[in-house]
Amino acid sequence: MDRVRVRFAPSPTGLPHVGNIRTALFNYLFARHHQGTFVFRIEDTDRSRFVEGAIEKLTSALEWVGIEIDEGYSAGGKFGPYLQSRRLDLYEDIASQMIAKGKAYVCNCSVQRLEQLRAEQKKAKLNPKYDGHCRHKNIPFKGLEQLSQQNAVIRFAAPQEGQITYNDKLRGEITFDNRQLDDIVLVKADGFPTYNFANVVDDHFMNITHVMRGDEFISSTPKHVHLYNALDWTAPEFIHLPIILNQQKKRLSKRDGSVYIGQYREMGILPSALRNFLALLGWSPKQNEEIMDMKQLIERFSISGITIHPAIFDLDKLIWINSQYIASLPGEELFNLAEPFMRSAGIDTSDIDLPYAEQAFDLLKSRLPTLQDAPERVGYFFHPPEQYEQEGWEKRILKVDHVQTYLSSFIENLKSLDCWNRDTVESCLRETAESLKVKPSILIHAARISVTGMTTGPGLFDILNLLGKEQVVSRMEKAIKKIAEQV
Ligand code: GLU
Repeated sequence: MDRVRVRFAPSPTGLPHVGNIRTALFNYLFARHHQGTFVFRIEDTDRSRFVEGAIEKLTSALEWVGIEIDEGYSAGGKFGPYLQSRRLDLYEDIASQMIAKGKAYVCNCSVQRLEQLRAEQKKAKLNPKYDGHCRHKNIPFKGLEQLSQQNAVIRFAAPQEGQITYNDKLRGEITFDNRQLDDIVLVKADGFPTYNFANVVDDHFMNITHVMRGDEFISSTPKHVHLYNALDWTAPEFIHLPIILNQQKKRLSKRDGSVYIGQYREMGILPSALRNFLALLGWSPKQNEEIMDMKQLIERFSISGITIHPAIFDLDKLIWINSQYIASLPGEELFNLAEPFMRSAGIDTSDIDLPYAEQAFDLLKSRLPTLQDAPERVGYFFHPPEQYEQEGWEKRILKVDHVQTYLSSFIENLKSLDCWNRDTVESCLRETAESLKVKPSILIHAARISVTGMTTGPGLFDILNLLGKEQVVSRMEKAIKKIAEQV
């Protein structure tokens, strides 16, 4: 195989979403697997759909997910510029060569004529298609700038008979009838090339070896192959990635999570988890592993592992993968990642003792689906509970006869402990329960909700040990006061 060169070539027409970044990731993994080059090109020739800020958002989404640009927009390289709107001279040059060879022509059909043509074809139940009216008129080409004055476009003189077949590396041969294909517009009246034209020209001049893109482009590819043929260029390999659908097998919508990639960051998804999840949207490794870091993804990635069946987007799976990554992080790193979420939930982390915070996160990390859950689930290590889980409070406190006495005895015994650690706290609780003649679990549940406000969490003795005597005692005293108010 030639040295692999692939590209991610988005149009800056909106915010980058799951589909975009999945395409980028597959290209990146393929490039890295083959020690090839990942090129980032911006296809900004449709000026009417250009969205301000979209390029920056695309660039930062790639960076966040950990996709490194080897060459291209923002990275540079010898085949630049990588912004199509800066390559107009090249497109002009190729278009005029094609006109000179009779492979393209200037068309100045008016909008009215084209509309009328379309209406007639529709009436006759024919596919809408340009009728070649200007094909043989030899309207002179006076340069891109003149096109708008001529009110003209440049069209491809497409083969009108026979068939065109190309080989999709996943789907095998795909054949289209040339009569179904149009004399597509190559350059619009505004002087900008169309997607089809600029895409082919750039893939050729940027030496792209493999085009990996969404399957919505399957029907564009025959047009591209015709252009490669007309220009005597060798076409790259084509790989069309499966569509991404929601659980109901419908197109992804905002509700399913087809959202701006930046929103996953705001949700507290780790980039490592998101890219692991995206990699599995239409691809699986031979051994069916699910959790793979970037290195493993690169090692395992192959075109043969890509499916042609729709990939199903499952937000729960993303959250599960995220929880696995969170659980594997050292407490320190996790605390640093979660800190902004804690702060925005109003938890003051400014003078937190770092080793303490690390231990708190180490205790909680196997129960943390996203970073956004941190304030709620880890919060009690940073401040006393402001309220108690209603149901738990009733069941574990209000319905337990003499609960105040139990907690008070426990407090007294804890206060007299000389050495505070997990084991001494546990023995203290068990001895208290024994002397009170109650089951230890009664005291465990009552202490847990008093101290954390919750009924679930890591082991109680780990929590008490980390919180320290002073906090534990004062929280249980506060709970006793509250019980007194309620009974
Ligand atoms: N600019 C096209 C897009 O939005 C690129 C398609 C391709 O990769 O050829 O998605």
